[in-house]
Amino acid sequence: MSQAQAVLREVFGYDAFRAQQEEIIDSVIAGDDTLAILPTGAGKSLCYQLPALIREGLTVVISPLIALMRDQVRALRAAGVPAGFLTSQNTEEETEAVWSGISDGSLRLLYIAPERLGLAGTQRMLKSAGIGLIAVDEAHCVSQWGHDFRPDYLKIGELRASLGVPLAAFTATADRETQEEIIYRLFAGRTPSVFLGGFDRPNLTLAFAPKLKPRQQILDFVSARRGTSGIVYCGTRAKTETLADALCKAGTTAVAYHGGMEPEARRAVEARFSAEDGLVVVATVAFGMGIDKPDIRWVAHADLPKSIEAYYQEIGRAGRDGAPADTLTLFGADDIRFRRTQIDESLAPADRKQADHGRLNALLGLAEAQVCRRVEVLAYFGETAEPCGNCDLCSNPPELFDGTDAVRMALSAALRTGEMFGTQHLIDVLTGTETPKTKQHRHDALPTFGVGTGFSRTEWNGIFRQMMGRDLLRPDPARHGGLRMTDPALPVLRGEQTIKLRRDALTRKTTSTPARALVSEEDAPLLSQLKACRRRLAEEASIPAYIVFTDRTLIEMAEKRPESLDDMAAISGVGQKKLERYGAIFLEVVTGETTATLHPKRRQIAGRAAAPIYDRLLEAQSRLQRGEDGTQKPVSCSASLLARIAKMSHAEEGEVMRVLGERRADRFGSAFIEILRSA
Ligand code: ADP
Ligand code: ZN
Repeated sequence: MSQAQAVLREVFGYDAFRAQQEEIIDSVIAGDDTLAILPTGAGKSLCYQLPALIREGLTVVISPLIALMRDQVRALRAAGVPAGFLTSQNTEEETEAVWSGISDGSLRLLYIAPERLGLAGTQRMLKSAGIGLIAVDEAHCVSQWGHDFRPDYLKIGELRASLGVPLAAFTATADRETQEEIIYRLFAGRTPSVFLGGFDRPNLTLAFAPKLKPRQQILDFVSARRGTSGIVYCGTRAKTETLADALCKAGTTAVAYHGGMEPEARRAVEARFSAEDGLVVVATVAFGMGIDKPDIRWVAHADLPKSIEAYYQEIGRAGRDGAPADTLTLFGADDIRFRRTQIDESLAPADRKQADHGRLNALLGLAEAQVCRRVEVLAYFGETAEPCGNCDLCSNPPELFDGTDAVRMALSAALRTGEMFGTQHLIDVLTGTETPKTKQHRHDALPTFGVGTGFSRTEWNGIFRQMMGRDLLRPDPARHGGLRMTDPALPVLRGEQTIKLRRDALTRKTTSTPARALVSEEDAPLLSQLKACRRRLAEEASIPAYIVFTDRTLIEMAEKRPESLDDMAAISGVGQKKLERYGAIFLEVVTGETTATLHPKRRQIAGRAAAPIYDRLLEAQSRLQRGEDGTQKPVSCSASLLARIAKMSHAEEGEVMRVLGERRADRFGSAFIEILRSA
């Protein structure tokens, strides 16, 4: 086992590296400049935390958000890693502890808020602190063109140059320009080793649904998942409040969050969300980067996001712990109009607007997709995949029909009315519905009037939405939103191309996504007990529940039902420190028995190679206590002596005898050496 693997097991409690973690960690440990671009939840933090424990010197971590730093430091300490942070919000004791940890060399990781980098004192301190590595989290914050730009990040390049140590940068934002800017600004243009992770998040269920009764759809989705933490994203601030109210009335604990709230109120929501089990936050996209909770079980979009990038980043906040998580994105014709208008009315130059329309089209294509959504999303990011079996389209393949005639009728209605009208008027024309407007414009005299009675109004709405989704018709701001035909529609109009539409999207039938159970029925009661135990421990220590253990770890406990602390140590997420602190407590929940009889020294080595050896030494000791024939004066070894020997090798025979001392060596020496030899 490599040293990195040993640390992974002992400190972090994980069995194996996730995809790419190992290569990245090797690169960082080797002291290479490293840039890793991995999706949210891929496990980037480990890629600098683990090397920090292996490399010489102190690792400085620059991270943009104070709340995140606190959480990470708390989680590290819970795993027994000496870590601290320096921010503008530090208490005197916190800062004091950091200084003494630096001066006695015990501190391994120091998180620093970027704004501290500008202070002369910080620079001086870092120069003398024996820094061996700089790690930069959310490295895209250095990009001046991005949404998350932090001017203080520009000072990192200077810091690296003045300390002359390797730098490892991490981000989930992958586009080429940002990548180049990161290299230019953080690495002064020297090319680092770049690791580009795959985009797939297999534990997320992907689902879209047309808005039929949008509020009810959200209420249903949320109430099927009551008691779990989730986020509902809304397009407007006002909607976050009304929807949060509606959810509360329906019996869910929900709070609103948006950029118009006071910073203090926002922080309070963030803190509650991170600490509480089962809170729902109804938010605008302002609720984002500060969210590091690994056990968000679902994300719903009450309105269509603005691009696939935004969509994927937002749903990506769910299920970071790797356990199953659900998503649902609602969309309707009003969303399409809203997003188009937003682009058209922006002050961006024409080519930028065109690009934005293109990006919106890609998202709409995903919303109206006819085969696996994951295949579609990954294709957008340049990856190929097989149908996933974990999206709404894989589990419910949509029924398709030849919509060529319907589309041609709709296009013709738009053209013959001068491309000046919106969906509802065009549907009036197609279904032959007389209104003051059809009379006023003499549209009841058009040949298209009433040609579309083969479809109901609802069905026509679905057809128009799918047409807009495929950008065959586009609302034109110059004509007050009147629908204009686009060039790609021409071949369909001319009969040169046929088009398939989704039938299910035409009906009002809402198919709700059933909540996925995290564990099988027979394990569910145990999982609830484990969660209750976790909540109690978290509350006692005033820490978020996931710092004790993540959902994923509890799920594994409920499924594998460890019978001993050794089994417990094999559960993913149970490292050495947590095993000592919580292992026995959770084991009691699983087995219903106490493990108080196990000696603390034995508990400390639970799950390690030394554990079975210890047990055999103990057994030999009881057998030989009164000598081979059972008649001699009793001699025994303390538990700590046994634990010490259990960690030794038979090759150290002389050393074993020495620590045993003469009397015990006489009695147990050869038996112990035999046990060590056969281990
Ligand atoms: P990112 O920063 O890439 O979004 P995190 O570093 O927050 O992701 O990690 C997400 C979750 O995955 C955390 O709960 C972390 O403890 C867990 N994790 C990381 N590496 C592993 C691993 N090798 N095995 C199991 N869980 C892991
Ligand atoms: Zn699929």
